[in-house]
Amino acid sequence: MKRIAIGGLHTECSSYSPLLQQRPDFTRTTGDALIDLVPVDFAALGLEPVPIFHDRSVPGGPVAPDVFAAQVADFVAALRQAGPLDGALLLMHGAMFVPGVEDPEGAFLAKVRSVLGPGAILSASYDLHGQVTPAVAAALDAFAAYRTAPHVDVAETHARAARMLARALAGGPRPQVHLRPVPLLVPGEMSSTFVEPCKSLYAALPGHDATEGIWDANLMIGYVWADSPRATAAALVTATDPAAGAAAARAIATAYWEARHDLAFDMETLPLDAALDVVTACGPAILADSGDNPTAGGVGDRAEVLAALLARGHRGAVFAGIADPDAFAALQAGRPEILLGGTLGGGGPRIGLTADAVHIAQECAVADIAGNRVVITRRRRPFHDLATFAALGIDLDSHALLVVKSGYLSPDLRALPRRQVMALTDGAVSQDLAALANHHRPRGTFPFDR
Ligand SMILES: [Zn+2]
Repeated sequence: MKRIAIGGLHTECSSYSPLLQQRPDFTRTTGDALIDLVPVDFAALGLEPVPIFHDRSVPGGPVAPDVFAAQVADFVAALRQAGPLDGALLLMHGAMFVPGVEDPEGAFLAKVRSVLGPGAILSASYDLHGQVTPAVAAALDAFAAYRTAPHVDVAETHARAARMLARALAGGPRPQVHLRPVPLLVPGEMSSTFVEPCKSLYAALPGHDATEGIWDANLMIGYVWADSPRATAAALVTATDPAAGAAAARAIATAYWEARHDLAFDMETLPLDAALDVVTACGPAILADSGDNPTAGGVGDRAEVLAALLARGHRGAVFAGIADPDAFAALQAGRPEILLGGTLGGGGPRIGLTADAVHIAQECAVADIAGNRVVITRRRRPFHDLATFAALGIDLDSHALLVVKSGYLSPDLRALPRRQVMALTDGAVSQDLAALANHHRPRGTFPFDR
């Protein structure tokens, strides 16, 4: 049996968000629950898993530097206490932004490498929206990233990384990670793997895996909302044959670069007013308020879409949701007069409202406001699952319009028989790339520099 550590740091940070992530923003998974994130039979792979910890947060703003430093120090201390280790399985996102730390994951992985030593095998799972630097590739022996966006293969990616770890520890030629950056940055909404061109680009990856000497081929879209020198897309290939690995990385990178002019939004996309014209008149519809999408790093507290809809006198919509701890507390305390919007620093209007009826469930206040149902949340959170609406007592079928803070829609929402429109709204994850401050990204990055 080979003893392997399991753990990692998993978040995505918009450098345009004013909200620093603090320790309570992260959920720490340990013990058996951490081992259960990886759906493999460890014993059958010859591995004895040693859970360290996995810190994960809802995507947000930059991580406070002292919080990141403590996470790294805690992880290193736990690794040292774990006794002799043959390797590590790192479950990462890859798009952390920490003020003053240019490459947080690179620094973290280098630390893990320094503790475990040059002979240990390090295998990582990444979100395809992560940023990979030469330091990340150099610290790792094996690399696997999600091949779907929206992500429906998270557990399978963990398993791919675990199987490569076992294979490398079983002996034979040691793999290497080949990195080929691509100077191209678009939002996930323009690079969904469910539509072209990324559908075909990702469908081609398993073909590379089948090549002699190649273990795992990946295309990283990268993360567009961090103004950082390391921001880039990349091809990454884990291979024991250096020539084959480099050639596959070059081929994947070239194919993505050549598709750059075909990258387009995966759903009907309109400015807010035009989007409201459509969704208030077309029958059952979903409106995605994209600039404030918390699962991409948006703050999730903006009320501009609600204000615009109320100004039109619209009734019968479900709004899920707006994060506002003060308004939530007022409603919970039975005070129906609230000020809503921008409480967490996300900007937009601050509007005075009166709730006619309020139902509290799951740290949410479901408030009837001017004939609409508005979900006001204590914490930043997405509403992507139908089960969540059911738990809040909201029957979506009886509401023609559902407004969510989202970019591309989750698999649950995407499957609903409703017209689906993405509004180009303001916020920390605005889809209007031309309007994003761009001081630190590498020069020559498309479409920032054409
Ligand atoms: Zn992602």
